[in-house]
Amino acid sequence: MKYKYIIFFISLFGLILTSKSQDSKKITNKFFPDFDITIPTPAFKKNKGFTKYDEMMLFLDDLVNKYPKLISYEFIGTSQKGKEIPIVYIGNQTDYKTKVAFMGGLHGNEPASTEGMLFLIHNLIKEDSLKHLKEKLSIAIIPMANIDGYEKQDRYAANGQDLNRDQTKFTNQESIYIKKAINKFSPDVMVDFHEYKPYKVDFVKYGEYGVTQMFDVMFLYSGNLNVSSSIKEVTENLFLKKVEPFLDKHELKYHNYVSSKHKNNAIYFNLGSVSPRSSATSYALSNTISLLMEVRGVGLNRDSFNRRVFTTYLLSYSFLNTSVNHAHEIQLALEKANNFNDEIIIKYKKEKSGYTLNMIDIYENKLIPVDVTLYNGLKCKPVLTRRRPNYYVIENELNEVASKLSVLGLDIDTLKFDELLEVESYKITSLKKSPVLFQGFYENIINTELYTTKKVFKKGTFIVPMNQKRSNLAIETLEPEMLSGFLRFNVIKPDDVNKIHRYVLNKEL
Ligand SMILES: [Zn+2]
Repeated sequence: MKYKYIIFFISLFGLILTSKSQDSKKITNKFFPDFDITIPTPAFKKNKGFTKYDEMMLFLDDLVNKYPKLISYEFIGTSQKGKEIPIVYIGNQTDYKTKVAFMGGLHGNEPASTEGMLFLIHNLIKEDSLKHLKEKLSIAIIPMANIDGYEKQDRYAANGQDLNRDQTKFTNQESIYIKKAINKFSPDVMVDFHEYKPYKVDFVKYGEYGVTQMFDVMFLYSGNLNVSSSIKEVTENLFLKKVEPFLDKHELKYHNYVSSKHKNNAIYFNLGSVSPRSSATSYALSNTISLLMEVRGVGLNRDSFNRRVFTTYLLSYSFLNTSVNHAHEIQLALEKANNFNDEIIIKYKKEKSGYTLNMIDIYENKLIPVDVTLYNGLKCKPVLTRRRPNYYVIENELNEVASKLSVLGLDIDTLKFDELLEVESYKITSLKKSPVLFQGFYENIINTELYTTKKVFKKGTFIVPMNQKRSNLAIETLEPEMLSGFLRFNVIKPDDVNKIHRYVLNKEL
């Protein structure tokens, strides 16, 4: 038993050092062969490495120079190392049915995402069979979101932070530029393309000498209970249902996203996403149809790269088609999402169950069933709820909070006069620091209770109306117990919790 762990670790570190693929030839040949298609993007013009930033810009400039009526781009800001981040616009920017935004390369070591976006851009411009998409849709694409990471094929931004854990606290400039650009475009549908890591140390426990994930792609979407059920419905029953036949046709294997976690010597799996610190839930909370695609790829270097890029392309192509063919259903779902529930969910519990996952036995080179414990983020139950306020009232000193909320795309007003208001305020009942360091700090774990009070609020006090499209993001950031909230992430110090209030009366402020 011990022997097999040692072998596994030696081979794993060996692979990391030589930057070879973690898939053996026999696994690649049997399960993940490339397709017989030519992909005319920069990485495929060379045998090693991936598209560099300059190569991407040449590729885009070439298209813009040749087809200035069909494609344009602008820079949304710079990376930490000063490289300008492009957003590409294609399609009908005035008379469209649906607006769709795509992103690739938020994690710098997930190259099929960026390459897939470049392939899509190319085909949208050059392939006649895609003509209907650019005629009927307004499309925005950020092909390389984390340029500094991408240049080194490293997951993180230049400062070592994970940009897909930064979508409520905004401690990276890239996160702010991207959020502002996407909100300005204001898509109906937003898809963030990634790659996942098919080999994990956890998996050595299973099979003869360990197993690897078998899915070409896993679908990640939000099970957060504050996300409108109409958004979840259209994501599951329309977008994902329609993508399946495309994948089946090419014998690409798929599953809802599962990730493994290690805790107290046991391994368990999580299904789905609930946390607004990452993109799938962040955009779903802003009443946008939101998906995150995880293509099998991290650690595989150039193995199956053509297959991975084609898979990414196929997904994006399907989502665009669905956006054209079901424009009316999409608009109805988005309208419905703006009727908010009276209750908001502060704490929840994921459904726990046994689950059988098919995986590839590395030694036997065949699929085997693996029994796992699954926490289902797509089936959460509320544990603590509160009444939805009509406004959050934020005292002036917390202007940092107001500015982060406006990055999130929320409209914020201020009181025009000093005003006496009856509000609900928070009292902390317990407070401790998380024992684990997260992105350079320890999270605050807080519990509060509400009390009703009357207070004079000064002219200029920030008020956040809760009848707006992105208001669910205010809930997830301002309620003190929230797992990706401002208090949790120290954007608001625990001492300042008494400067945030809830207005629940039925009067307009
Ligand atoms: Zn990723």
